[in-house]
Amino acid sequence: MSKTLLSIGLWALIGMLIGAWLGAATGWGVFAAGLLTMVLASGWQLSRIARWVRNIDTPPPPSVGPWDGILAPIYRKLKQNRLELQERTRSFERMLLAAEALPDGALTLDQDQSLLWCNQTAAAHLGLDLERDKHHSILNIVRSPEFATYTRQARWDKPLLLHLTRQSREHTLLLHLYPYSTGQFLMVTRDITQIERLEHMRKDFVANVSHEMRTPLTVLSGFLETLHDIPENALDPAQRRHYLELMIEQSRNMQALVADLLTLSALESSPNREGGPVSLPALIQTALAQSQALSGGRHTFEIEVDDSLHVLGADTELASAVTNLMTNAVNYTPEGGTIAVTWARTGDGGARYAVRDTGIGIGAQDIPRLTERFFRVDRGRSRATGGTGLGLAITKHVAMRHDAVLRIDSVLGKGSTFSMVFPPSRVCAAQARAHDAAA
Ligand code: ADP
Repeated sequence: MSKTLLSIGLWALIGMLIGAWLGAATGWGVFAAGLLTMVLASGWQLSRIARWVRNIDTPPPPSVGPWDGILAPIYRKLKQNRLELQERTRSFERMLLAAEALPDGALTLDQDQSLLWCNQTAAAHLGLDLERDKHHSILNIVRSPEFATYTRQARWDKPLLLHLTRQSREHTLLLHLYPYSTGQFLMVTRDITQIERLEHMRKDFVANVSHEMRTPLTVLSGFLETLHDIPENALDPAQRRHYLELMIEQSRNMQALVADLLTLSALESSPNREGGPVSLPALIQTALAQSQALSGGRHTFEIEVDDSLHVLGADTELASAVTNLMTNAVNYTPEGGTIAVTWARTGDGGARYAVRDTGIGIGAQDIPRLTERFFRVDRGRSRATGGTGLGLAITKHVAMRHDAVLRIDSVLGKGSTFSMVFPPSRVCAAQARAHDAAA
């Protein structure tokens, strides 16, 4: 303002001086021309400012006369606000990224239980779509009476266990609601489907083991009580011998069960088997001798073994898998059947151990369950052969620990082929073993 007054004063002084010299009219004319120049300059400055306002993020125009002192602080403040906003946006984005990285689902609700925000995990847990469901009541999205009752509670001391079906699969979620600030709620969701499944498996396993132990124990204690209660000479030697044989058989069953359980737990609790070369042909020969003894001449054995192929791994584990497939073939093949054992290279440089029998075979519906612990197609038959129902579970574990695949092909009433297919990385030539041994 003072600058403008100064300019007007200056033009008035110039006008007065020129008026005194060249006459009043000329003096007034000069003064008017001066004022006009000032007005035009001011208009030009204002139009530059107007252009800048349309693109306010750029620095203000220089030399806009009296406006210089006004625009500079406005621009400085704008710049500072912009930087603060950028910093806040960055920290907000960082918080959102952190919320996305949470292993649990998180969502926020307002006091009407309308969805405000959710991370990807919560979206996947509850089937939410933030764009579609924002500002919609969560009760209309998650339709479950327990969920509705839980969210309407006055306090949320405990989480809610919720069973949901998504894409026709059952899921179990643990949900907890936490109020924060007035009328705002945070809901944390955790998928515990796997944990619950493991817990069921653990309970089933304990129930199965108890059940498996109870039968031989009942038989054993029954005989022991009988022997204890009857007079010494009430049983003839043949009867006594028969009782003792039955008791020995039951205790052997229990021993086999405990041994298989220990093997399974050892397999599960140790890492994958690396190891030196193991002669699978030698293990096959040992298993063959055991299987032939078990068969007692009731079956024909056909053997085709490539002696040059060894496997990198653990011999005790491989021995139990090799033997199990062969003794199963004996146990589940009626008299007169044929058992064919092969150990040969596969096209890709790996190797395949296969046991084919002409036995009772397995129905297609039972094949996927064979490697479950304690699963038997025919309980009575398995028990009669001293089976624990754990053999194939152990074999599958051993195969997995040697990067091999256990394949089962079977036709009910015709026979089965059980095979373990090893990848090239696990197969080595016999010479390598001799060389290693020498080293
Ligand atoms: P088990 O100790 O009962 O033999 P496994 O785990 O070795 O336990 O086998 C599980 C079930 O698979 C057996 O009870 C039997 O019903 C079936 N099975 C295994 N091998 C054969 C086979 N070669 N032929 C027919 N059924 C078999």
